[in-house]
Amino acid sequence: MYAEVLIEYKVKSLDRTFTYIIPEYLKNIIKPGMKVTVPFGLGDDTINGFVTKIKNDTNQGNLKSIIAVTDSFLVLNKELLSLGVFMKETYLCTLISAYQTMLPTSLKIKDNKSNYQKTTTYLVKNMPLDFIKTYINEVKHSSQKEILESLLEEDRILKNKYSSSSVQTLLKKGLIKEEKVEIYRIDKRSELSTNNLVLSPLQKEAYDEILKDFGKSSTFLLHGVTGSGKTEIYMRLIEEVVRRGKTAVMLVPEITLTAQIVDNFYTRFGGDVAILHSALSNGEKYDEYLKILRKDAHIVVGTRSAIFAPLENIGIIIIDEEQSESYKQDSTPRYNALDIAKYRSAYNNAPLVLGSATPTYETYARALKGVYKLITLPKRINNSPLPEIKIVDMQKEAKKRNTIISEYLKNKIDETLNKNEQVILLLNRRGYATLVNCDACGHTFKCPNCDITLTYHKTSNSLRCHYCGYFISKPDKCPECKEGDIRDFGLGTEKLENMINDTFKNAKVIRMDADTTGKKGSHERIIKDFKKEKYNILLGTQMISKGLDFPKVSLVGIISADASLSIPDFRSAEKTFALLNQVAGRAGRAGLTSEVVIQTYNPDNFTLKMVKSGTFLKNYQYEMSIRKALKYPPYYYLVGIKVCSRVYEDASIESSKVAAYLKKYLSSETIILGPTTAGIFKMNNIYRFQIVIKYRFDEHLLAVLKEIDEMYINHKSTYLEIDFNPYSI
Ligand code: ADP
Ligand code: ZN
Repeated sequence: MYAEVLIEYKVKSLDRTFTYIIPEYLKNIIKPGMKVTVPFGLGDDTINGFVTKIKNDTNQGNLKSIIAVTDSFLVLNKELLSLGVFMKETYLCTLISAYQTMLPTSLKIKDNKSNYQKTTTYLVKNMPLDFIKTYINEVKHSSQKEILESLLEEDRILKNKYSSSSVQTLLKKGLIKEEKVEIYRIDKRSELSTNNLVLSPLQKEAYDEILKDFGKSSTFLLHGVTGSGKTEIYMRLIEEVVRRGKTAVMLVPEITLTAQIVDNFYTRFGGDVAILHSALSNGEKYDEYLKILRKDAHIVVGTRSAIFAPLENIGIIIIDEEQSESYKQDSTPRYNALDIAKYRSAYNNAPLVLGSATPTYETYARALKGVYKLITLPKRINNSPLPEIKIVDMQKEAKKRNTIISEYLKNKIDETLNKNEQVILLLNRRGYATLVNCDACGHTFKCPNCDITLTYHKTSNSLRCHYCGYFISKPDKCPECKEGDIRDFGLGTEKLENMINDTFKNAKVIRMDADTTGKKGSHERIIKDFKKEKYNILLGTQMISKGLDFPKVSLVGIISADASLSIPDFRSAEKTFALLNQVAGRAGRAGLTSEVVIQTYNPDNFTLKMVKSGTFLKNYQYEMSIRKALKYPPYYYLVGIKVCSRVYEDASIESSKVAAYLKKYLSSETIILGPTTAGIFKMNNIYRFQIVIKYRFDEHLLAVLKEIDEMYINHKSTYLEIDFNPYSI
């Protein structure tokens, strides 16, 4: 028998299978989807690969044999094997990169030692009871006594809780023996607690409507304001689907942002939940995967790549906060988890539920057209009022010399603190100051790799690039003119924290952004401490906007709404509405009277007014008219092509060639923009030019892009990045 093996070789030109002989002793073991080790190239070189097909005959001669099965449990099932082919055709990625994306990184490691199963050692009795009792009476060692006495009470005890020398003595004498039990590193079986919430009539309606399509691959948009009880609906649906013998997967944007949701799942489902996300240790990832494959867990909760969970028999797929950009991978394969979810929904005949208070306009447009089934939850649970929203004109405040905190917001913070309630402040920019320059010559600091301005971080006294991580320590004197001092402008979360501490001397303040949450667990700690009211004010970047449920928060301040509005992106109004709506949704969740203060230099901005009145639909309609006029999604589809090279001239010349080719072979209705320099023109020393394709329907598109892609597979200096439906351009 023979196997076709897709080898793990990064080069695109080798993305194909090779035929190997299956040795006699592996005949009953090897299956499609299994990972194997094969000889490759000259000498003793070996490589890993996936078996894609098994066949009885071949007309090829001089074949080599498979050496070993790399991991016998790690098998891509039939669905995932076919999903890889779909990804290759949809995103023009390599098949091997698709398969590799489906498996957690730790499982790609070559040696199997990292994929160990952890065990706990218990001690149990190894002699009749009378014998042990007699021994207890005679023995002098108190710790030996303790061990045996514990064993009279319990059948087994944890070995590592007792003195190891005493354990050794008792083991040698044969009074006790060890028992090893396999364990999972994350074990939440004991966290189960019963829940007796009664669904509200609207929740029940939504639940019933979705469940009616059990066994069908319908897509639903659950459009519900913040605090309308969407999460509760997800959990009830999952509960029912599992009860009917199927499995469920739910995606959340970033696991750290949704720690509270995950906790809710543990209390509701205990050990039936497996969690998949990048912050797990390799051992934890291995275990969570194992739980799924052994069918110990029927529910998977995780971030983007959890959509590839090797579940069989999926009964429902849920994507919470479906507008989140985190669902799109921005390195190859550039997949969108929503596409993958649709594939799996169709394959398994399972409903797909997209949930959001602020869906993307593509999704909303499909829902209005009836492509998706639209379910709306316009009110908060128990009719808790949505917060009052106040827009503060910072131009007027600037005249009073209040450039950061307006008088209005300052008074509101004081009031809230006096009432013993909590405050959240959003500033969507980390670091201390946005810009540093020399007060004599005006010299500014830029990243040598990425050509963008460095951001000042006070705690480490350094200037950092937020794209590639490059940093230098902040010089005292200007390195250019050697005379001027270095001053800082603008505002980041770090500087805001200092200011707030100075202004509100009695308040306890905690900051949450990428710089304070680097360590594992630090994020959860901040959330827990704030919830326990160890702090009065939580300030941070968009990290604080999602999923958090703090009953005592009654004031939310948005320090600068303009930071997000001024980003040059066709989606900036859509994204600003979503962000501000999200943060505003943190206030007054438990019925407290609450307020949101938005500070801006553009108080007449349409989107801000819509945030104030809470009218998603009007902002949508207004933006859609612009999108239509400017030919943006959802009226047109986009493809972004980046032409990249270390050599500036090559990137420039090749990008013109690509654009010319597209213009020649694509439909005349299709719009080709560029080449222009990309938003981040130089990143990690690679020059990037960009071409944007806008199209409504172009039957040649995929074929033409495939041709271009193939032309550059073996190019000496230049490579292409093709991105279908990018979130931003
Ligand atoms: P969303 O996901 O839409 O923001 P959640 O599901 O988090 O909303 O619900 C908001 C709050 O309301 C949570 O504290 C949740 O426990 C509570 N809640 C949800 N459904 C009910 C219900 N049927 N009865 C009482 N409280 C509920
Ligand atoms: Zn950089």
